[in-house]
Amino acid sequence: MIVRDILNEATRTFEAAGIPSARLDAEVLLSFALGREKLEFLKNPEKIINEEQLSFYRKFIVRRLQGEPVAYITGFKNFWTFTLKVNKDVLIPRPDTEIIVEEAIDVAKKYTSSQIKILDIGTGSGAIAIALADELPKTNITATDISKAALNLAQKNAENLGFKERIDFRQGDLFEPVDDTFDIIVCNPPYISTGDYEALPSGVKNYEPAVALLAGMEGTEFYERLICQAKNHLEKNGWLLMEIGAKQEQSVYKVFGQSGFYESVETRKDYAGWPRVVKARRK
Ligand code: SAM
Ligand code: GLN
Repeated sequence: MIVRDILNEATRTFEAAGIPSARLDAEVLLSFALGREKLEFLKNPEKIINEEQLSFYRKFIVRRLQGEPVAYITGFKNFWTFTLKVNKDVLIPRPDTEIIVEEAIDVAKKYTSSQIKILDIGTGSGAIAIALADELPKTNITATDISKAALNLAQKNAENLGFKERIDFRQGDLFEPVDDTFDIIVCNPPYISTGDYEALPSGVKNYEPAVALLAGMEGTEFYERLICQAKNHLEKNGWLLMEIGAKQEQSVYKVFGQSGFYESVETRKDYAGWPRVVKARRK
């Protein structure tokens, strides 16, 4: 079979299965199946695919049809300006999470010294911590996760991208593994309520780790704990930045208000117009 025909066939199969990004998924999986020869093939849609490549591709198509996300099949996901390794132990980093990276960079650049201390809680694949290490070369970065398996992958990503020496990785529940104070704390915590979890797309619910998503009956469990505990780990005038779900802004503002330890609470919307990051300054 030639490249064009196989791509069209896979695209139609994905469309029939209701996969929204059918063409793109077919292309990404084909590139992966073609390995080192992919550029040559994609430049020439008339080229014939060999049996081995075709058999890999067919296996990837079956996995995708069963609901597995493309990033778990290829083992890679682009985030910020780099490519991260991903596997079933970590959440696939979302484009929306680049908003918290942008906000943290803005906050960091307002400091007169560039040697500030940043903490990323629940680092997962290492996405946020690595992006900040890259953009803010003089900062001191600590990244934590409760999952040992996630932390292993985050460390591997940091090493592959040349940031092994820049990030101090620690395992534990929220602030438990750190006794330091920080200028900026960032966190994309789990924020899906038990009710919403059942309604998640099957690719998320059946494949991504529940520990990265589930956050109690209201989906706000982590905000309550983070806001309460962060006050003991922030420098005076230090910032707490958290990614939030589309309908969680009010609840998060309420928790900040009740705490009494924060001021300048602000929201940053994502490019679809939803509230995405809330930040607040330690009084
Ligand atoms: N920071 C990554 C990102 O933005 O792509 C991953 C975010 S994911 C939504 C939440 C992460 O928090 C997961 O890696 C999960 O293992 C971790 N986590 C869950 N509960 C935790 C806890 N109690 N303490 C520390 N990390 C936790
Ligand atoms: N944004 C993720 C989703 O749509 C949820 C990530 C989280 O809980 N932090 O599934």
